[in-house]
Amino acid sequence: MAANRRFATHLGRLGTETAYAVSDEARTLAATGKKIYPFHIGDLNFATPEVFKKAMDEALKNGKTGYCPAAGIPELRKALAEDVGRRRGVEYSAENVSIQSGGKPVIGKFLSVTMEEGDEVLYPSPGYPIYESMIKFLGGVPVPYIFKETDNGFEMDLEHIQAKISSKTKVFIYNNYSNPMGVMSSDEEMKQIAELCVKHDLWVLSDEAYFDITFFEGDAKSIVSLPGMLNRTVILYTYSKSFAMTGWRLGAAIGPADVISNITKINTNDEACTTHFIQYAGLSAFTPEAHDFTRHLVDVLRERRNVLVEELNKVPGFVAHKPESTFYVFVNVTKTMEIMQTRSLEDFRKQLLRETGVSFCTREHFGEALPFENQYYVRFAYSGIDKEMITEGIRKLAEYIKSKQH
Ligand code: PLP
Repeated sequence: MAANRRFATHLGRLGTETAYAVSDEARTLAATGKKIYPFHIGDLNFATPEVFKKAMDEALKNGKTGYCPAAGIPELRKALAEDVGRRRGVEYSAENVSIQSGGKPVIGKFLSVTMEEGDEVLYPSPGYPIYESMIKFLGGVPVPYIFKETDNGFEMDLEHIQAKISSKTKVFIYNNYSNPMGVMSSDEEMKQIAELCVKHDLWVLSDEAYFDITFFEGDAKSIVSLPGMLNRTVILYTYSKSFAMTGWRLGAAIGPADVISNITKINTNDEACTTHFIQYAGLSAFTPEAHDFTRHLVDVLRERRNVLVEELNKVPGFVAHKPESTFYVFVNVTKTMEIMQTRSLEDFRKQLLRETGVSFCTREHFGEALPFENQYYVRFAYSGIDKEMITEGIRKLAEYIKSKQH
């Protein structure tokens, strides 16, 4: 007798990362012998620094293969509390840290702890798609907020955000430095967001996945350091981008002890603990080797960014700003869509992939476009592609589009 194949209703509210479908498409095309220029992935073509691998081997040899505390090994919690606190100008101790299998799990766990069903959650759109997915899945009401394009980049639309806050708003999701737009808040913008969150007594998820990937002079800044924020903010911390460790799955939720202990309770019910020996490897983040790696990574990414932005702006119709953080460039392609005589971003993307091998994601992979949006955007990631390939790929793209101009 076949089982009843009906699945739980709430699965209908669970989203996904549609960007993975672009990876599959590019892979399928590559298998036919087509040269692919991979701008779609937020993964890094760098090897994890040796120091992490050696530490993991050592931990395995030393038998760190059993269960460990649900919140993580005390050494790592303490070390992260000190390092993350110092770099953000706040004080944390081990009880403020719950180790996670990557940064991603922090999103759903934080919402599970702070949001009731029916509560409204403000989140960036375009933005990392898991925010919307988890808000809906957990019964919250997703309220997207948008950005404005300026002469040299993007900024948050504070009036629009203010207008969206209601008595039901409970959580604000803030992603500085942001995927997919590479935007960063000015000090003034961050201050105003913090003031809004204090005024309306909101919980804040500060997704700091790209905190280490910045190109400007001076230190990165976290909203947690602003008045009234420490006790309402949970930081999404991850090893993925800073140390080229996306597949290791190591990160942390860092915030008020009461929120953190509840997040840890979810760990207990869910994965029990993050892989024991991986946590020991995580202690290597505080070594000079790891520090040097991140510096080198940022230097290489900066060069790639410079080349990419220069080439993108030579493509007919493209408008690309130079982001000061992350490894993404969010390009306005509205005029190029006119040249190509299409109003479908998906057709545009597919045609360019097929004809040139240049593979990228579009705005639609980062949340639904809002009704009043009248510009079209695509995202180029340069984390997984070298400088030479960047130049070659974008020049090919430019040639193709030129051939379509009348
Ligand atoms: N947050 C943002 C904005 C991201 O772009 C990503 C990954 O791309 C994550 C969180 C999650 O990363 P991970 O789960 O690998 O730590």
